[in-house]
Parts: sequence; C-alpha cells; structure tokens
Amino acid sequence: MITVKEINVNAYITKSKLPDADFVINPYIGCTHKCIYCYAEFMKRFTNHNEDWGDFIDVKLSSKPMKLDKMKNKTILIGSVTDAYNPYEKKHQITRKILEQLVNCNSHIEVLTKSDLVLRDIDLFKQIKDFRIGISLNTLDDSFRKSTEPFASSVERRINALRVLHENGIETYLFMSPIFPGITDFKKLINETKEYVDSFCFENLNLRGAYSGRVLSFIDKNYNHLNDIYTKIYKKKDMTYWESLSTEINDFCSENKLNHKLYFYHEKIKKP
Ligand code: SF4
Repeated sequence: MITVKEINVNAYITKSKLPDADFVINPYIGCTHKCIYCYAEFMKRFTNHNEDWGDFIDVKLSSKPMKLDKMKNKTILIGSVTDAYNPYEKKHQITRKILEQLVNCNSHIEVLTKSDLVLRDIDLFKQIKDFRIGISLNTLDDSFRKSTEPFASSVERRINALRVLHENGIETYLFMSPIFPGITDFKKLINETKEYVDSFCFENLNLRGAYSGRVLSFIDKNYNHLNDIYTKIYKKKDMTYWESLSTEINDFCSENKLNHKLYFYHEKIKKP
C-alpha cells in the first residue's frame, strides 16, 4: 500500500551539486519504482514519513510560475531523486505541467527516467528548444530488471520508448546505470539500442547508503558465484574492476564512433 499525499511547495527548481546539472526539478518526493539500489533513499530523512522509502509519494503542488529568466543557458535535470514519470504521474500530471512552463525557455532541459510513460509528452518535448531525454537501463534480462527495479518499465518497453522518441526526432541517451559488476553487459546493451540513441552514459554501481547490505544480500542469494568480485570491490575497495571496465568502454565506444561519457567513481566527479 502506497501513501499518497499532496504537498504545497514554493518552487520546483533547486540548485544542483551534480556534475552536469546546474538545477534539478523533482516533481515528487519519493519514488515508487522501488529499485533495490535506490541512491535517493537518503531523501527519506528530509520527509515526515515513517513508511519505508518506496512506500510513499508526495505530489508537489505549486501555484507560482517558475522563474526561468534566471536559468538562461543553464542545464536543468528533471528527475534526480525521483522518477518524474513514476506511475502517479499518469493521474497527477505534475511533470507535464512543469514541462508546459519550460516550452520556449532558454535552458538546456534533460529528463531521466525508467518509464515509458514519457511517451505521453512527446508533443511538449518537441516544443522545447534544447532538450534531451535519458532512459536508464542496465540489462537486457527482464528477470534481473524485475528483481532490481520491480515497478519500473520492462526492458522491452524502455527500448521501445527510445525507438519512438528517436523516430519523433527527440535527442536520446541511454544511461547505463548502475552497472552491476559481472551482470551488466555493456556491449550487448549498446548493440541492442545504438540505432535509437544519440549518446551513451555509464555509471558504476556505488554502494554507500543503507541499501548496500540489501544489494550484497541480493547478489549472495542470486549470483553467489560473483561474491568474490563484489567483496573485492565493495569491502576491500579494490578499483581495478572499474579501471579495466572504463578502458574497455572507452575503447569500444571509440572503435564504434559512439558519443559517450563515463560517470565512474562518484567521489571524483563531485563539483568543486
Ligand atoms: S527510479 Fe531512481 S529514484 Fe526511483 S527508485 Fe529507482 S533509483 Fe530510486
């Protein structure tokens, strides 16, 4: 049972510490996709909820128009600690109302999602001057997806979303995140999607929050042949796996002339 609450907020836009975004917009607090590795779980302490992260969602309401003149030439990311296209967006349409304000703005707008509900808003994406959309996907195996991202769109639906967006002339990127050591096959994912994707971003699995134990138990239960490698990376802090994977990704993308960016080793990519 998900607790749904409407809350009033002063503004949707907040400043960002992410390396590639000046501002972020999160139309909801909480996220019901319930990914087992959810890096946004830390947000729960800023809420008044007793429910587990994933079991509540606050729908943000704001009657004030966004002050977009201050955002000129800045990058605004929609969906940094929630999925702006979570299932509650279907009814509440907060993301859609925000996008309606962003039409004709002079900022670079990006949406990052794991949901094909995003296809509903193609009419608005086409009206935003500088816009791209990222679909997160780290596997082609839908049973792995179901275990790790139980309430997000299936693999097939996400790839279809990339195809439809591309066919509608929308710039797309595949956000391969989080890369699970020994499980995510980056070459297969690229080959399956490159026809519909303008660029690729790669992010490694970071285990720093309360979810660390949950992810390691999941690996132990379902992929125990990988225990050694996870122990090496996450308990002994050995980075050689990521070092060689980043070389492999860079080489593969150069050989295949693919635009790409690596977001590995989080602590090194924080803004100064
Ligand atoms: S989609 Fe993103 S914010 Fe939502 S549960 Fe998954 S990782 Fe967390």
